[in-house]
This record gives sequence, structure tokens and C-alpha cells, in this order.
Amino acid sequence: TSYAGDYVTNNSIFKLTASYEADSYKQKVNLGVGAYRDNNGKPYVLPSVKKAQSDLIADESVDHEYLSITGLPEFTSAAAQLILGADSLAIAEKRVASVQTISGTGANHLGAVFLQRFYQYQAFGVDRQIYISNPTWANHKAIFNQVGIKPVDYPYYDAKTIALDFEGFTNTLKQAKNQSVFLLHACAHNPTGVDPTQEQWKQIADIFADKGHFAFFDCAYQGFASGDLDRDAWAVRHFVARKSIPLLICQSFAKNAGLYGERVGALHVVSATPEQNAAVFSQLAAIQRSEISNPPAFGARVVKMILTDKALFAQWQKDVKEMAGRIITMRQSLFDLLTKKFETPGNWDHILKQIGMFTFLGLDVNQCKRLLEEGHIYLTANSRISMAGLTTNNVEYVASWIDKVVRE
Ligand code: PMP
Repeated sequence: TSYAGDYVTNNSIFKLTASYEADSYKQKVNLGVGAYRDNNGKPYVLPSVKKAQSDLIADESVDHEYLSITGLPEFTSAAAQLILGADSLAIAEKRVASVQTISGTGANHLGAVFLQRFYQYQAFGVDRQIYISNPTWANHKAIFNQVGIKPVDYPYYDAKTIALDFEGFTNTLKQAKNQSVFLLHACAHNPTGVDPTQEQWKQIADIFADKGHFAFFDCAYQGFASGDLDRDAWAVRHFVARKSIPLLICQSFAKNAGLYGERVGALHVVSATPEQNAAVFSQLAAIQRSEISNPPAFGARVVKMILTDKALFAQWQKDVKEMAGRIITMRQSLFDLLTKKFETPGNWDHILKQIGMFTFLGLDVNQCKRLLEEGHIYLTANSRISMAGLTTNNVEYVASWIDKVVRE
């Protein structure tokens, strides 16, 4: 394909999708983009979302006036409860400033601008920089560079063990200047699918507390890791409960509500006192005013309905569980095919161990290139595959090609 020429250097996921679309090969498989697909490979509108949106459209009292600068208040407060817990002390103590954003990307951006402007980097003896995991979501670097914060890698993924480099990560946390800013993936790390265990999170939080580091949580997959919304919020809630760790959370409803194009998200900044919280909230509003004036209404209304209506919420929990469950089933199928049917050389345990939408297969660039060029299987050159692209119809085809490129 025309794409393959610059495969190694080209990291555009959208270009990969375009080449997939242009490919006329019948058995082609798209394992590139991180959007959920049903078992027929089709985009999925969640039943809970379908119900909420049809109720919304039928409701004649709904108009198209602007939302306020910080968004739909019922949405932002329900969203805060979803990530922090309904019984969150920080919410009860009025220490959480929540602003509706242009999905997770907008939350990352607003959080970045806020830190660039108000975090007292120099006072803490640190440059305007943020530590990001190596590797991370491709857009993180661009977002921070865009606002004049320098992204600096911290070790995260160990290619040799295909697992977390816990020692490298925690050493960097310890060696960084006090009050440094670290970006953490709340769950289902993108692109590796490798998360710290709860025990490891506790140790990480200890170091944050000791060093006074700022935790910049990116939470794009709540519910996708385990199928349980509360369980996937564990790390964030643990940090918030420590009280002494300054932090913010970027929240996206793109994946867990399947509302990719509606751009529904929120930024939650947790402060030490209600006074500080009020100041933070008004500054966030001021930044937002100059950038987007008012966030979009439709998707926020849909999510607000799902989060505040008991029956819809129960349906949504079911929907999330179903999506996460299908992904976990595909992990098992791919693993079984490689280890039992094809007896592919190597250890494939990481396929079962990794969490969420993505798996890092641990193949090299040339192997990935062969999958693409000969197998018509579209994946990024770092061997990340979206598990949601696998179906009961194509998983054996994909496994057979992985087997082939590993052997030859
Ligand atoms: N953060 C991470 C880690 C992501 O994987 C994504 C989605 N690919 C996002 C943020 C933001 O996505 P969106 O803007 O669509 O919510």
C-alpha cells in the first residue's frame, strides 16, 4: 500500500485507517484505531445511549441555547461522582472544580493550559515540564508542546518483559525534583495495556506524597479495563483519598459511552481547600471562555441522563460490561489460538495480562510491516493492536498471520 513506505516513521492512526478503507482485500482487518467495534466489526451505539438520545430528541422542552462556560452543571457534577465516587469526601468538602470539556483531548488541553499558567514550576525549582510515560498516547506530547510545557519521558514499559518497568518508573519518581508533574493513565494504559497493580499504585502514591509531585490523571477508559466503573476508578480514588497529593483528572466519555464524535468530557481539579477550589474554578472558566466559550450540549445531555437516571445507569453498566467482556473474550481466543492451535513460538501470556482496549503484541517493526503488507492486517508499527478490532470471524485469520511472521 502507499502507506507502507513510511510505515515506521508515520504514526498517524488516521492515515492507517484511510489505507485500510482503500484496501480492497476481502479479509482485511483493522486493528489500528482505538474505537470499540461489535462482533461484526461495526461501530456500536450503546442501548443506554440510544434510549437517552431518543428521549432527549422527543423532549420538546429541550432547546439549543448555549450551555454555561463551564458546561452543564448536572453533567459535570454527575461526572465528578462517577470518577471520584458518590461518597467522595473531596466533593463533599467542595474541593473539586469540574468543567465540561471537548472530550478527553480538551480536558488534557485545559489541564495543560491551567498548569502552564498557574502551577508554580519555578517556585518548586522545576522547569515547565511534565513527565509522560514511555510510551504514551501519541497526542500527549503534542498537547503539552502546544502550550509550552516540555514533555519528558519516564520509563514505563519494558520491551524485554513486555510488562511494567516498575523500578525504572519509581526511580524516576524519586529522582525527579520535588513538586514535579507526572501524567498517569488512570486505567487501561494506552498504548501498552499495562497497568500497575493496586499494590504498586499504593507505592507510587507514597512517592507522590513524599515528593509533593502533582498527578495529572488521564482517564479515557473507565469501565473498559475491568467492565466495572468503580474498580477502574480505584487508582484515582486512592490518590484523592491521600489528600496531600495535588491532582487533576481528565475524563472522556468517548469510549465508555461510545460517544466519540460528540466530544463529551470533563476536567476535574482537586484542591486542598474550598477557597483554593473556588479560585481554580474561576480561572478554568476564564481560560475556557477564551478558547471555546461554551462546550457542546447534546452529548453532555445524553451522558447526564445516563448518569442520573437509575434505569439508564443500570443499562449503561450492562453495556460497559458487555464491551469489556467482548474484549476479554477476544484476548482469550487470540491467546488460545496462538498457544494451542498454532503452537506459535514464544510466550503470549501478556495477551491475557494486558488490560483494556489495546495489546502490545511485542512484535518488531518488520513483523508488523509483513502483517500489514502481506496479511492486510492494519496495526501501528509498535505492534499495538486494538482488541476491539478482533471478532469471532477474523481472530483465527489474525492468529495465523502472527504465527507466520513469528516463524519466518
Ligand atoms: N487519553 C488517552 C490515553 C486516550 O487514549 C484518548 C483517546 N484515544 C484520549 C485521551 C482522548 O480521546 P477523546 O478526545 O476522544 O476523548
